[in-house]
Amino acid sequence: MASKVLSLVFATNNLHKLKEVQHALGNRVALVTLNDVGITEDIPEDYDTLQENAIQKARYVYSRTGKNCFADDTGLEVEVLNWQPGVYSARYAGDAKNPKDNIRKLLSNLKGVENRKARFRTVVALILNGEEYLFEGVVWGKIIDQERGADGFGYDPIFVPNGFTETFAEMPLLLKNKISHRGKAVEELCKFLKGKV
Ligand code: IMP
Repeated sequence: MASKVLSLVFATNNLHKLKEVQHALGNRVALVTLNDVGITEDIPEDYDTLQENAIQKARYVYSRTGKNCFADDTGLEVEVLNWQPGVYSARYAGDAKNPKDNIRKLLSNLKGVENRKARFRTVVALILNGEEYLFEGVVWGKIIDQERGADGFGYDPIFVPNGFTETFAEMPLLLKNKISHRGKAVEELCKFLKGKV
């Protein structure tokens, strides 16, 4: 008998994220992107917490499609900057959301600063059969002073997780997935979904 596969809309068109999350969820869950369900406009993110934005995005997708779905919202939180850029990580250097400009701005704000302590935090909001659920993942590390590595995306080239010497952009995807903020949040999501598929 064919086993059941759960179809879930992931509120993203970021193929890096899609690959990371699909890998973590395995083949019992089939992820569908926003493009796949015809949502081409930017989904509003009006709030100033990761949790509220993740819920807002998931509700938006659910109201447009009526399908089971989840959204994530992630921030890079830097201790000495009062945990900024946080929820503003994507647009730190402006609405163009340019990752290289974001990195430049962050390195410039940390120039000469000794405390490089930072964490990535992800909140996942799931809507399954009309019910809402939240999951969170955190990874602690430090911001280095020059970019290293070509893989990954966003702030990966300047973030070294605690216990490692490589940046996220120098790590194999499998390793990043295992230890990252999103990896941990998705692991919680997986545990929850186990038994349902
Ligand atoms: P989002 O909520 O997942 O879109 O993340 C907001 C911003 O945080 C992104 O535009 C990136 O700049 C940054 N970000 C999110 N996840 C990661 C990651 O795994 N590595 C590096 N930067 C990330």
